[in-house]
Amino acid sequence: MQLKIYNSLTGEKENFQPILEGNIGLYVCGPTVYSNVHLGNVRTFLSFDFIYRTLQFLGYKVRYVRNITDAGHLTDDGNIENDRFVRQSRLEKLEPMEIVQKYTVDFHEVLKKFNLLPPTIEPTATGHIVEQIELTKKLIEKGFAYESNGSVYFDVLEYNARGLNYGELSRRNIEELFANTRDLDGQGEKKNPQDFALWKKASPQHIMRWISPWGEGFPGWHLECTVMSTKYLGDRFDIHGGGMDLKFPHHECEIAQAKACNQVAPVNYWMHANMLTMNGQRMSKSTGNYILPMQLVTGENDFFEKPFHPSVLRFCFLQAHYRSVLDISNEAMLASEKGFSRLMEAVKILEDLQPSEQSTLHVENWVDKAYSALLDDFNSPVLISCLFEAVKWIFSLREGKERITLEDLTLLKEKFHAFVFDVLGLQRIEKTANHKLDDTLQLLIELRNQARKAKNWALSDEIRDRLMEKGIELKDGKDGTTYTIS
Ligand code: AMP
Ligand code: ZN
Repeated sequence: MQLKIYNSLTGEKENFQPILEGNIGLYVCGPTVYSNVHLGNVRTFLSFDFIYRTLQFLGYKVRYVRNITDAGHLTDDGNIENDRFVRQSRLEKLEPMEIVQKYTVDFHEVLKKFNLLPPTIEPTATGHIVEQIELTKKLIEKGFAYESNGSVYFDVLEYNARGLNYGELSRRNIEELFANTRDLDGQGEKKNPQDFALWKKASPQHIMRWISPWGEGFPGWHLECTVMSTKYLGDRFDIHGGGMDLKFPHHECEIAQAKACNQVAPVNYWMHANMLTMNGQRMSKSTGNYILPMQLVTGENDFFEKPFHPSVLRFCFLQAHYRSVLDISNEAMLASEKGFSRLMEAVKILEDLQPSEQSTLHVENWVDKAYSALLDDFNSPVLISCLFEAVKWIFSLREGKERITLEDLTLLKEKFHAFVFDVLGLQRIEKTANHKLDDTLQLLIELRNQARKAKNWALSDEIRDRLMEKGIELKDGKDGTTYTIS
């Protein structure tokens, strides 16, 4: 069984070969903890949670590093006075490190709510300032970086002059880049507008600052990921992930820093998760087109007509491949809720199915198909469609339309559970008053089916009509009877 991964660096689906047989080093860019993560951020983290779960399911031992960016992240206008942490701490009248703590806690709570597994190492940028200074020193020594007015910049032209290729990941041409860049950051300090900061001099008002050979300052954002990924995974590691929007400049700069320092490309497979849009527009804090993950669960928002269980969101997200744009809407969530409920119903039915002498189903083929979906660049929508093939079987088995041997039933149970709970990370909805109602209605449906089997039409009609009087409509479909409550 060969795992294939789409490598953003080559633009091709490649056969995956780990550096150390059976082991994988995985690095994913974490959040900048200056405010709450929005649902778009959660999609990216969830995409990599599914990838992490799948790699483990396939038998790999994964060292999963996801950082916390808690220092020196400038706003898009590049103005060094606009360090996001400093700005937020002024707004909330808190210390910058209180901001960091507050939103790190929030981040962890959100991911727990949506059943994301924690990484095996979660390093912080502020915990690796010494290493970042060391790397900056090394880049200066090797002639790839220069100091200017207390700040240090990476020399992109020098990098290219030595036969390296800045722009290889985002497939950008350096001349075009030079023509299209305005020098907003580091006014007049840089040799070229594309040079990026490794270290920034702190202005007197800047609170988050550290002592360095170039005076007091703070590290550039790209540096921390190079330092933390290579520190824990080695100079060359297997997989680096992040959202599509990080390809340039962030990941491009990571490649340049690591290649310049270690003479080796840092990453074998670059993976990029696509964006979440809401009502057709990319989800983002700055445009106001966003919803906080917890608001989806509590229902306190203007976009969705009702609250949704976190697993319904997982199910909704995983119905799209991680490389496709996903648009979230009220309709999409309602449809996901229906699909998820049906899947959970099948889980319940599966527990009580009885084996027969013979099988009318090809369970082994089904297992192969599901594995193939996972091996084909983590294709969650195809896996989900496989699961729904099995859901159909499960309903048919209950009705006696299909038969299954003990061996096949054991295999189906084991794999169905593993795909639903371990790989997709879905969780059962706990029993509530609503579920008691559901159980009762299922019981009435079952009694009506028995009456129909016995051709006792008078009783089966009475059950249907009396439920109708209470506003509960039964519908007989090809997969059994369902109900709607008005
Ligand atoms: P940030 O905290 O801004 O560094 O973002 C954390 C992660 O969320 C990064 O990997 C981003 O690429 C990702 N991200 C930001 N906006 C979206 C979005 N609308 N959809 C999916 N991922 C996003
Ligand atoms: Zn990063």
